[in-house]
Amino acid sequence: MDKPDHRCVALKLNNHTMNDINTDYDLIIAGGGMVGSALACALGASELRIALLESAPLASVRPGEQLDSRVSAISRASQRIFAAVGAWNEMTAWRVSPFRDMRVWDSTGSGRIHFDSADIGEPLLGWIVENRVIQFALLERARQLPAVDLCCPAALDSAQPLDNDRWQVQLNDGRVVTTRLLVGADGAQSKIRQLAGIGASGWEYDQKAVVANVRTSESHQATAWQRFLPTGPLAFLPLHDGRCSIVWSTTPAQADALLALDEQPFGDALGEALAWRLGAIVQVGVRGAFPLRLQHTHHYVKPGLALIGDAAHVVHPLAGQGLIWDCWMPLR
Ligand SMILES: Cc1cc2nc3c(=O)[nH]c(=O)nc-3n(C[C@H](O)[C@H](O)[C@H](O)COP(=O)(O)OP(=O)(O)OC[C@H]3O[C@@H](n4cnc5c(N)ncnc54)[C@H](O)[C@@H]3O)c2cc1C
Repeated sequence: MDKPDHRCVALKLNNHTMNDINTDYDLIIAGGGMVGSALACALGASELRIALLESAPLASVRPGEQLDSRVSAISRASQRIFAAVGAWNEMTAWRVSPFRDMRVWDSTGSGRIHFDSADIGEPLLGWIVENRVIQFALLERARQLPAVDLCCPAALDSAQPLDNDRWQVQLNDGRVVTTRLLVGADGAQSKIRQLAGIGASGWEYDQKAVVANVRTSESHQATAWQRFLPTGPLAFLPLHDGRCSIVWSTTPAQADALLALDEQPFGDALGEALAWRLGAIVQVGVRGAFPLRLQHTHHYVKPGLALIGDAAHVVHPLAGQGLIWDCWMPLR
C-alpha cells in the first residue's frame, strides 16, 4: 500500500511559529493522545480558538513499517466519528483491519457468545487499528484545521485559575497562555487532575496485559477471539496481514514469566491458552506488558475545566472500551 506523504510539523504550527501563535484561547486541550486529538478535530470546524498541546514529538507517533503492538478495537460508531472529523481516510491510507465476527468463550464452563455482523445486516462489526495510526491521523487532521494551533511537542507544565474564570497555563518552553476552558486529556496520570485538586478512586486489578503481534498456522477468519481463563481474558484480534494482535491479561507473575520466555515456548503457551483454536503460533513479534487498574476521578468537570479520556476514567481493556466514545453522540 502506498504511504501518505507526511510533513513533519517540527516547530511550524499551522503557518504560525512558536513566537506568533495566540496566547489567549477559548479552549486548551492538554494531551494529544487519541482522545484529546479527536476532540480537537471535532471542534476544529467551529469558530473557537483551540490549542492542542502534545508533549511527544509528532515524529515519535508516526506509524512505521512494522505494525505497532498497541492496537484498539474500534466500533463502527467510532469509525463514523473518525470519518466525520476527517481523519478516517488517513487511517485507511496507513492500515486498518476489519473484523466481522466476535467469538468469546469460557475456558472452564459452557458460556460462549458469537456475534456475527451478518445477523445485523452489516458487512462488519468494527476495525482493529494501531493506536499510532489513530493518534497520528488525528494529529495530522488537527494540524490542518485553521481553528487549531497544534503545539507538538509542547507540554503543560502548570496551570492556575484566574479571577476572571479563565485558566493561565505555563508550557515547558516558557510560554504562558490563557483559556476559557482547560481540557485535561493527559492520560491516566493526569497532571491537570492533580493541579485541579480532583481526587480519583480505583484499585489495581492485580493483572498485567501482555501484548504482541503473532502469526497463527490457521486463518483468523476476520474474527476477534477471546477466551476467558481463570487468570484473565486472552484476546486475539485480526490484523490485515493475517497476523493477530494479542492482549493476554493475566497475573503479574505469569505476565513477567511469559515475557521472559523464548519465542518458541511463549508461542506454545499462547497456543495452548487459546486451546489451539487458531492452530500453532508460528511467529511472535515484540512483546510488551501494561499493568491494569481501574480508576475513576471524583469529578469530570470544574468551572473552566474538564477531564476526558483516561484522565477521567481508566477501565480494564477486556471489552475494548477505554476510549468510551458514547459521549460523542452528536457526531454520529
Ligand atoms: C492493553 C490495552 C488494550 C486496550 N485496548 C483498547 C481497545 O481495544 N479499545 C479501546 O477503546 N480502548 C482500549 N484500551 C484503552 C485505551 O488505550 C485508552 O483508553 C486510551 O489510550 C486513552 O487515551 P487518552 O488519549 O485518554 O490517553 P493517553 O493515550 O494516555 O494519551 C495522553 C496523551 O497526553 C500526552 N501528555 C501527557 N501529559 C502531558 C502534558 N503535561 N502536556 C501535554 N501532553 C501531555 C501524552 O504524551 C499522551 O499522548 C486499551 C488499554 C490497554 C492498556
